[in-house]
Amino acid sequence: MTSRTSIFLLGVGIVCASLAVMAQAADPHLTADPAKNLYRSSAFLHGYIHGYESGFHRGDLDLHLNREPQEAAKPQAGDVGYRSEFGDRRIFERGFREGSAAGYGDAWRGSAFRGVAQVRRLAETIAPDVAARKDFDEAILAGYQAGWQEGRKRPLTSAELRGSERACLAAHSAPPYCDAYGRGFGLGYADGSLSPPLGKEAQTAQARDARAK
Ligand SMILES: [Zn+2]
Repeated sequence: MTSRTSIFLLGVGIVCASLAVMAQAADPHLTADPAKNLYRSSAFLHGYIHGYESGFHRGDLDLHLNREPQEAAKPQAGDVGYRSEFGDRRIFERGFREGSAAGYGDAWRGSAFRGVAQVRRLAETIAPDVAARKDFDEAILAGYQAGWQEGRKRPLTSAELRGSERACLAAHSAPPYCDAYGRGFGLGYADGSLSPPLGKEAQTAQARDARAK
């Protein structure tokens, strides 16, 4: 190989590597989304929205192809698309699973695509110092889990929903932690209350109507 050829090949290699980096760099949730500050602070919510989008897409396909619900929407390993700049991998993957189930269920029941708007609403009201806390993601996740369990059990009044933050304050002294906890609780509650088991016996009238269209 002549030195000119190897310089040329080196150049091609550098261009290809740069293009690969540019393609990797463009995660719109972290760069262009109105909720980008929230996604930067919370691997859980970032994973959640990736999962929601992916789950909704799969649920929509299954609905329109008249297929039985898949094992809810269990994400395949290759779907998650984790990158190191997303933060804690385990929490991102957890968020992905929760979002995927929520999105799949919404689509399969013929409901609206609500995930993005829900997280953006959260982002509009969270104070920057709350989102910047080290335990922010932990609080969101703990609230989400508790809210999801409650949502599965029974409908809560708005006063009871607000009470989740007070209960957190009684057990945990840090108000910013409980602010985040309460928001996670609200999101989890919405998902839990909307997630009856999918399956033949569990089909709601709404889902049957949507499938008949
Ligand atoms: Zn993203």
